[in-house]
Amino acid sequence: MRYIEPHAHMVSRVTDDYHDLAAAGCQAVCEPAFWAGFDRSSAAGFYDYFCQLTEHEPRRAAKFGLAHYCWLCINPKESEDVLLAGEVVSLIPKFLSKPNVLGVGEIGLNKNSRNELKVLEMHVDLAARHQQLILVHTPHLEDKHKGTRLILDVLRNDRRIQPERCIIDHVEEHTIGMVLAAGFWAGMTLYPETKCTGARAVDMIERYGSDRLWMNSACDWGISVPLAVPYAALELRRRGHSADAVDKIIYQNPRRFLGQCPNFAKLAAVND
Ligand SMILES: [Zn+2]
Repeated sequence: MRYIEPHAHMVSRVTDDYHDLAAAGCQAVCEPAFWAGFDRSSAAGFYDYFCQLTEHEPRRAAKFGLAHYCWLCINPKESEDVLLAGEVVSLIPKFLSKPNVLGVGEIGLNKNSRNELKVLEMHVDLAARHQQLILVHTPHLEDKHKGTRLILDVLRNDRRIQPERCIIDHVEEHTIGMVLAAGFWAGMTLYPETKCTGARAVDMIERYGSDRLWMNSACDWGISVPLAVPYAALELRRRGHSADAVDKIIYQNPRRFLGQCPNFAKLAAVND
């Protein structure tokens, strides 16, 4: 089995997890910028985090033969302070030339507040000005449907944004349809407690097809399973999906989406 882990917060994980990912057939791990579990007090805190994502973490992954990529932003959970968010967004352009950066993410909404929307628009503008891919976090539970709708509106209202260069992550049964119908990619996050189980993800694949879908573990500092993607692949096989169909979902699809970023395309060429 070969696969790409397109969404994992490795700064929160122990080194053994890199070992397990590599042993399970992972070819590359991609890390969106995220909330640390506490609010950072200054833009300098984000500067250090961006250095960790672009310099330290790729070295840690490389010890296990794993390519490490990242996405940069101030995440929606810390977007209430618009002034701080503006300072952080202005730090990002100088990191965009780092060889492992894939784009702007995970941006989006958390509580669907006005300030979060303002910061989302800042990020979309940043991505458009620098021709970056976009990875979007959608809110949890009761806020998800409305939040996803608001996010799609922001993206569609900016004429510079191409939906095929944006992935809307953490979709569930009630949001996947609107994401795919609008031409965006959809990400399914496999969590043991919230979001989506492997079995539910397979149900969605069987209902919506697998053209613009990927699965990820989004493993972070909370309860999560770093090998959730290969486990879901086993569930797909158990339910009769061919090895080629599984390879498409867990390897070729993320490679196709991420390959739109020249930094990622270079790795794909090395693997062939
Ligand atoms: Zn995440």
